[in-house]
Amino acid sequence: MTVDKAKLDDALAVAHLPALVAAMVHVTGDPSWLKDEWRPAYQPLTRGETGLGPEIDGQIRAACRAALIEFLAGDGKLPPPPSEATVRRMMDFVAGAPIPEGYADFAMDELAISGENSKAPHFDQPRVRENARKLKVLVIGAGMSGLLAGVRLSQAGLAFEIVDKNPEVGGTWFENTYPGCRVDNSNHMYSYSFEPNHAWPQFFSPQPELLKYFKGVADKYGLRKHIRFETLVETCVWDEAKAVWRVTLRTKDGGREAVEANAVISAVGQLNRPRYPDIEGRDSFKGPAFHSAEWRHDVDLTGKRVAVIGTGASAFQFVPEIAPKVGQLTVFMRNPPWGLPVAHYHENVPEGFKWLLHNVPYYDKWYRFFLFWTTTEGFLPMVKSDPAWNDTRAVSQVNAELREMVAQYLAAQVADRPDLVDKVVPTYPIGGKRAVLDNGVWLGALKRENVELVTEKVTKITPTGIVTADGREHEVDVLIYGTGFQASNFLSFYEVTGKDGRELHERWGGDARAYLGITVPGFPNFFIIYGPNTNIVVNGSIIFFSESAVRYIVGCLRLLAESGARAMEVKQTVHDAFNVKVDEANKGWAWGSPHVSSWYKNQFGRVSQNWPFGLIDYWRATLAPNPDDFRLERQPEPVG
Ligand code: NAP
Repeated sequence: MTVDKAKLDDALAVAHLPALVAAMVHVTGDPSWLKDEWRPAYQPLTRGETGLGPEIDGQIRAACRAALIEFLAGDGKLPPPPSEATVRRMMDFVAGAPIPEGYADFAMDELAISGENSKAPHFDQPRVRENARKLKVLVIGAGMSGLLAGVRLSQAGLAFEIVDKNPEVGGTWFENTYPGCRVDNSNHMYSYSFEPNHAWPQFFSPQPELLKYFKGVADKYGLRKHIRFETLVETCVWDEAKAVWRVTLRTKDGGREAVEANAVISAVGQLNRPRYPDIEGRDSFKGPAFHSAEWRHDVDLTGKRVAVIGTGASAFQFVPEIAPKVGQLTVFMRNPPWGLPVAHYHENVPEGFKWLLHNVPYYDKWYRFFLFWTTTEGFLPMVKSDPAWNDTRAVSQVNAELREMVAQYLAAQVADRPDLVDKVVPTYPIGGKRAVLDNGVWLGALKRENVELVTEKVTKITPTGIVTADGREHEVDVLIYGTGFQASNFLSFYEVTGKDGRELHERWGGDARAYLGITVPGFPNFFIIYGPNTNIVVNGSIIFFSESAVRYIVGCLRLLAESGARAMEVKQTVHDAFNVKVDEANKGWAWGSPHVSSWYKNQFGRVSQNWPFGLIDYWRATLAPNPDDFRLERQPEPVG
């Protein structure tokens, strides 16, 4: 290839240098690139600049420039991949901190250093392949997780069908179309590990781009022929005699249809049923009233008096979009969100950065690793509770220091509005709820002349407005709920009746639990993706969890095919012991603090949503099912 030096220079100017240095080890086969003096010194809450100053950054760029000119002019062949020991050093280098023991195999696998990762299914033996072909799987949901299941099932050679209530794929990215909707963890991490998108237009792309990505995956992997749209699952009933799930579908034309499957994979997400607050008079409001996830694009907000209830992740995104358009905006806030400074939140990915992703082998993978480490595993210690700590506004010394830093950042944004300072700095610890990414537009919107932030409790909704505890009536034309979702009501769209005739939701009694978030005793061959206790609070990618869960589920199906069993059911003791550990561990994090209320906790105050360990722990726990954790039952019967 002829090297376009101008393009290369543009690219080097915007490169993530630590990721580029790690890529150079692959390109040259020379680990001496990992120089101590080039190791980044990231500052907390910055974008990932090396922190080494322009001189060292210049040295790195010059060295990379020379090596890349040579590489790009050559035959493109890479030297043998780095050893595990070198990969360990590369991880430390890119993270700018020593990575704890145990991460090397994780990184080798996640980064697919050998060219492949273990998430791709291998049903190599002919007998396993043949038995697997007899299994029919029904996947519920064609969002991020359901599509992923489809990709892996088709790679494994299993018969499967996906049903979705919507007329298109994408799930949450299809349904949430409110103005300003975008991803809140970097797209270079929020994408399937096997399907990187080097063309993301922004670091945190808007919703239409996410929808386009998932549609593209459905097309590329030929999934559409497996999907039935506008089809709702009403009931799943386990037929013990035949060891199949009998599933009743409500079809597009309103009819009902019964289908059978050896296994069901539920991929319906956690955040899909809007939660309207229980406020007196809610139904009496005469004007248009809608939830952020059911945005009424037919309602023209121009010049209107608009009320927004709620200031979570959704409102944080749409309020700045609608504020300049409406006549008057009244935002009703119970608790402010913590906004972590992310200056490039709305920025385009520079062309040079895309060029590097396209042209420099492993640059994309190490950049992804950098994001993974700094936003998840590397961030978790800052939200870990110190049992000896007794200030309700933080959970540890380091959490208090972070709080101080971010509180200053928020206060500085409203320095010209002293009336807002106390209102916009949260009193709960950082990490108690999912933090939002803040580039200043949120508080900029709240400071506008046509915007009022009301922190008085909403006591009543009337036909013409909202009444607050101080007795004031706020007259409005349109009411928008940014009040979140009924998250702890898992799989709320359908009934699942298991082995002994018991319904799953009855069994849960409002307190959903599963083993690894995936499987529940009494419900053989029924698997959940993004189930109980598999959410993360820090700004990591839920795709990581779904990929791990799908590998495990495909592993379960492989176990059925290998063993010739027709059903597998997780043992109650295994499930219970796991949940005891989860509950205990969740108490040790900011989100488990008794001083925080959030959608992570169910009606019993139990954290039913979040994974309380490291991401690596979920990766390890879901590498493959342990046959000893399950009761396996007899021969499978083909489903006609
Ligand atoms: P949310 O985080 O649950 O926020 C709901 C908001 O409504 C909170 O501010 C809550 O206040 C408030 N609220 C609820 N009932 C109220 C009442 N009766 N009176 C006044 N305020 C009330 O919901 P969300 O913003 O839709 O976000 C939910 C989750 O979806 C997020 O945590 C995130 O995981 C995900 N999400 C992601 C993105 C993204 O990636 N881009 C965007 C949006 C959402 P309190 O805080 O006091 O409870």
